[in-house]
Amino acid sequence: MELSKDRVLQITGKVQHYAWGGFYYLPKLLNIPVKKGETYAEFWLGAHERGSSELKNGSENPVSLKDYVDTFPVQTLGEKAGRTFGHIPFLLKVMDVKDMLSIQVHPTRENAQIAFDAENKLGIDPASPKRNFKDNNHKPELMLALSEFWLLHGFKSPKALQTILRETPELHFLVPIFGSDNYKKLYKHVMELPQVQVDRHLKTLLERIISHFNAGKLSKDKEDYWAARAAMTYSQDGHIDRGIFSIYIFNLLHLQPGQAVYQDAGLPHAYLEGQNVEIMSNSDNVLRGGLTVKHVDVPELMKHVKFECTVPNIITGVASTEGRLVYPTPAPDFELSRLQIMKGKSDKLVSHSIEIFLVFSGSAEVEENNGKSFKRNKGEAWVSFDTAKSEVRAIEDTVIYQASIPGMD
Ligand SMILES: [Zn+2]
Repeated sequence: MELSKDRVLQITGKVQHYAWGGFYYLPKLLNIPVKKGETYAEFWLGAHERGSSELKNGSENPVSLKDYVDTFPVQTLGEKAGRTFGHIPFLLKVMDVKDMLSIQVHPTRENAQIAFDAENKLGIDPASPKRNFKDNNHKPELMLALSEFWLLHGFKSPKALQTILRETPELHFLVPIFGSDNYKKLYKHVMELPQVQVDRHLKTLLERIISHFNAGKLSKDKEDYWAARAAMTYSQDGHIDRGIFSIYIFNLLHLQPGQAVYQDAGLPHAYLEGQNVEIMSNSDNVLRGGLTVKHVDVPELMKHVKFECTVPNIITGVASTEGRLVYPTPAPDFELSRLQIMKGKSDKLVSHSIEIFLVFSGSAEVEENNGKSFKRNKGEAWVSFDTAKSEVRAIEDTVIYQASIPGMD
């Protein structure tokens, strides 16, 4: 592989066709044909093993961004990130959530390292459905809503949780278990309850709310709405998914476009519906807690959940230079920015380590300081390597999402 003289290069991303994805949103964003019956769940930009971006550098064969950065870490990432990470530490995604995703929690980096090594020692096949840890990394996430977006996000406050357990007759039995604020006891109880009892408690609840759901009486801002939908999506072989308890136990958030939330290790969450742009550490470590047909390892899950209430912190972005909003988080691996450039205007950029850009709307001309340029339309992306200077000129009013590593300048 040769090192390209160009420091700013066009890239293509990877679409993931998971079953919960929508049909039209991503094809429209990416300007690709819709295949009948195919779902389009996620669009990835980055260097993940299961879907690295590809570089277009004028040569016939596309080059994997992962291979390129692995071959030239210092030239692409710079000294500091090359030393600290040695690879692109983030993954940028656009997601179209049509059907709710599993309830999940991600490990801390320390715990991921220990557990990954332990599973390797036990010889659990990386491809096995029983394998919990795919790598040794943490996976904090920031998600920014592109549409109205509903999600479950951490445990409710003690007061809100006591209220909903009292107001939902079929969940009264959990009131004394939770007490004033025993999150661990409550969550352990519902996660370890024998399946016959799960079915018994939830059957009456579901009979009641599904009739309301079918009559169109439930709003998306009510837990009952999502519990009814979950029951119709995930109950199998006559059994009811115990994840339905969690819909009542966790905060139900309804975000407006432009609002973001950050999810660090230990915070349980589930995406219910909507479109978002998400940035995360480059990892695949997910511990599931229901609303899924996949493997749920309850004892392992319990080790990684933080048993505390979450007061949702809605992030709306910090204005920096003109047209730029930054969404800061405590994560050392990534930072998301939104750039708005009006038609005819331009923005001069200097890369600090590696940066990835996605045109979300409009179109732009990108010119490197060696005079070379290319045009990027809606849904198209490029990468800018360490120290590269470029100018981005908006051909129309343009919105661009930028992924970078914080603290690199
Ligand atoms: Zn997650």
